[in-house]
Amino acid sequence: MGEFELIRRFFAAAACARPSPAVALGIGDDCALLQLPVGEQLAISTDTLVAGVHFPEDCDPFRLGQRALAAAASDLAAMGAAPLAFTLALTLPQADPAWLQAFALGLDCMARDCQLVLAGGDTTRGPLTINISVLGSVPAAQALHRSGARAGDLLCVGGTLGDAAAALPLVLGQGAAVPAELAARLCERYWAPQPQLALGQALRGKASAALDISDGLLADCTHLATASGVALKIEAARLPLSPGVVDWLGAEQSLACALGGGDDYRLVFTLPPAALSALQASWPGVTVIGQVLCGAGVQVVDAAGQTITAPRAGYQHFGGSGD
Ligand code: ADP
Ligand code: MG
Repeated sequence: MGEFELIRRFFAAAACARPSPAVALGIGDDCALLQLPVGEQLAISTDTLVAGVHFPEDCDPFRLGQRALAAAASDLAAMGAAPLAFTLALTLPQADPAWLQAFALGLDCMARDCQLVLAGGDTTRGPLTINISVLGSVPAAQALHRSGARAGDLLCVGGTLGDAAAALPLVLGQGAAVPAELAARLCERYWAPQPQLALGQALRGKASAALDISDGLLADCTHLATASGVALKIEAARLPLSPGVVDWLGAEQSLACALGGGDDYRLVFTLPPAALSALQASWPGVTVIGQVLCGAGVQVVDAAGQTITAPRAGYQHFGGSGD
């Protein structure tokens, strides 16, 4: 199968490459053309996943397609951008039709969830590598930045934390005994995280700063604190953990997953207190986990207000992402 037949069969013909008002010209020419609404800025972000570094070589292609697009789309959510389109630069060791079909279906599935249209890409031979660029639009001056947090704001997250880290041993086949329903739920959160695109857009004009959790809550909060020139205090007891995780892993390990585990793709944001109740009325998953203070750095405190050292996770979850 030649390069052009591969593009036509698996990508130009995919459901995610369907016509859309946002894409005036899609796959087939030298560039795609996007139609940006008047007064909007283009948000763009790119992510590369390399086999053997970010995912195992023999990883299920359907799930890989889902996860690769979700991870990329989460950056649009973090900026408060509305999803428009994505491009796919695929480097493949060989053209395996079954692999390509499953990968394209995984992409389709996440593209539908995220309302993203495949607008172009590139296809080359080499070690398996997936590069996805996502494109979104946001009204001028309304994008959410990392740098706007102010002392007195609340520190919030958009949903449960630590699920992807808790799932990692299961994903790697090293799972200890775990109830089947919990294992399925955690693995779904790992392979098909749902970027919080609607929440991101709802935070425009409300949140003072935002980003998505890809490296882990502590690491990403440090980015936010540094960019904003503030200190963040996280109250460990308020971190929202998935039902069943504490029973399975115990309190310390669950806390380690929530604080240190990457790949949750939840939004973390800062919010003036007056905006909280209206936001929670529409987004019950939004949870206050701490405060923004004057100073620098990120501090974690226990229920008594004492500073605690973030526990280290027992699995080698957090060194292996390759980011
Ligand atoms: P060029 O040589 O001009 O860069 P290509 O031959 O690489 O163009 O690609 C032909 C068309 O197919 C372009 O519109 C490109 O965006 C699209 N394309 C190539 N690879 C992919 C892919 N993996 N997924 C989606 N579109 C692709
Ligand atoms: Mg090319």
